[in-house]
Amino acid sequence: PSSEQPKMHPAKDVNVLVLAHPVQGHINPMLQFSKRLASMGLRVTFLIPMSTEKSLNLVNASSIQVEYISEGLDNVEVDKLSIDEYLEHLRVSVSRSLSDFIQKHQSCQENPAKVLIYDSIYCWALDMAMEHDMHGASFFTQCVVSCIYYLVHQGTVKLPVEAVDGQGRVLSDPPVMSVLGPNDFPSFVVDVDKYPAILKLVLGQFSNFRKAKWLLFNTFTELEEELVNWMGNQWSLMTVGPTIPSVYMDKRLEDDKDYGLSLFEPEAEACLRWLDSKPPRSTVYVSFGSLASLGEDQMEELASGLRSMKSHLLWVVRESEEKKLPRNFMQELGLDDDKKGLVVRWCNQLQVLSHGSVGCFMTYCGWNSTLESLSLGVPMVVMPQWTDQPTNATFIVEVWKVGLRVKANERGVMTAEEIESCVNEIMGGERRKEIRENSLKWKEIAKLAIDKGGSSDKNIQEFVSNVLDLGT
Ligand code: UDP
Repeated sequence: PSSEQPKMHPAKDVNVLVLAHPVQGHINPMLQFSKRLASMGLRVTFLIPMSTEKSLNLVNASSIQVEYISEGLDNVEVDKLSIDEYLEHLRVSVSRSLSDFIQKHQSCQENPAKVLIYDSIYCWALDMAMEHDMHGASFFTQCVVSCIYYLVHQGTVKLPVEAVDGQGRVLSDPPVMSVLGPNDFPSFVVDVDKYPAILKLVLGQFSNFRKAKWLLFNTFTELEEELVNWMGNQWSLMTVGPTIPSVYMDKRLEDDKDYGLSLFEPEAEACLRWLDSKPPRSTVYVSFGSLASLGEDQMEELASGLRSMKSHLLWVVRESEEKKLPRNFMQELGLDDDKKGLVVRWCNQLQVLSHGSVGCFMTYCGWNSTLESLSLGVPMVVMPQWTDQPTNATFIVEVWKVGLRVKANERGVMTAEEIESCVNEIMGGERRKEIRENSLKWKEIAKLAIDKGGSSDKNIQEFVSNVLDLGT
C-alpha cells in the first residue's frame, strides 16, 4: 500500500459498507480492496450474504469488520431451485437483509456510512443505498472488455465492432476489439438461450449504473488502456487493480499472505512441500477455479495430456470433480517422492503462482486467475470454458501475449495431444522465451500500477478523498 495518506480528516470515523457476492472470485477482490481502504484510514464493514458455517476459514481480515447477513437459504433446498429461482431468492433475501443492516447501522452509529460499495451484479443494492440516502460505488469483478460486450448486447452502446474499409481491412472501434472473433465474446452473449438467468444478471449490471457515483474495476489501466480510455470517456470509471495482497507484488512489504476468506480448505502445506522439492520453473499448475465443471470426456483428455507431458504437475481438482478422474490416475502419477504430480482439492493460489518452481498455469481464465497470473509473471496455457473466459483467453494470447490456447477439435473437445503439445511448447519449446519475457514485463507493469503514484494507486487515493469529502 502507498505510504501517502489522503487528506487527514478524522478518517477513522468515516464508515464505508461493502457488499460482496458469496463466491470465491467475487469475495477475493472485494475483500482485498476493502483491506486497502482500511489501510488508508477508512472504517470498513464487509457484508457477506452467507451462512456462518461456510465462513469458518476467515483469516487475516482483522483490519476490517466482517458481518454475515442472511442469504435466506437456511430452509431452502438449493439443489431443487433453478438458477432463475435461486437468483431471485437471493435478490429478495439479500436486499431485505441489507436494508435491515443499513437501518441498524444508521440508528446506532454516530457517523453512519455514506457510501455502499456493492458487487456490480447486485444492481438493486444501488437503489437500496439511495433509499437510505447513501451513494453507491459499483465494483466490477470482470475486465473492461467483457463489460463492453454486455453494454453492446444490452443496446447501451453501439460499436462499429467490425466494419470493412475500402481496402477490405477490418476496422474496429476501439481497434483492439478486432482480435475477438464471434465465439470469443462472453458465452452468455454468444448463446443467449443457454443461461438466460445469468445473462439477465450480467446485463443488470448496466441497468442503473449511471446512477452510481463511482464505477470501480479490478483491472489496471495499462492492461486495457484503449478500452479503459474509451469507456472512461463516457463514464467515470476507476481502475483499482490488481487487488492482490501486496506481499506478492513486492516481497519487501509485510502484509497478509492470502485474501482472507476461503470457501474451501486449502492444502497449503502439501503444495508448498511439493513445490519446494522441485527445480525452478519445472511444474505446471492446473486449476479450473471454484465453479467450472468439466465433462467426463474432457476430464479424461486433460488427465491423459497431463500424464504424458514432460513437466511436473500440481493439479487442483475440487472434491465435487474428483469422481471424474480416470480410475488409475493417481497410481499412474507414481508414488511418494518420485511421483510426477500432486493432486489437491484446493490450494492457496497466490502462494502457488508466486513459487519459483511453477513454470506455467493451465487455466480456464477466470478473471481473478488471469489477473493473478499476469501480475505474478506466470505464463499461461488457456482452456476457457464459459462466461467471460473466452474473451479473457483471447486477450491473454493475442493482446498481452503471455499464453498459448488449447484449441478444441471439431467435436469441441480439447484433446490430450493438443494439451500436451501446448504445455511442452510453453515449458520448453521455441515460444517459451518470448512468452516468459512478456509475462515478466506485465508483472512489472502491474506492480507499478498499484505502487505509490501508479495508475490504480492514484485512483484509489482519489476515491478515498472523495469518500472523506462526503464527510463526517
Ligand atoms: N483460488 C484459490 N485456490 C485454488 C483455486 C482458486 O485460492 O485452488 C482462488 C484464486 O486465487 C482466485 C479465485 O479463487 O482468486 C477464483 O476466481 P476466478 O475469477 O479465477 O474464478 P471463479 O472461481 O470465480 O470461476
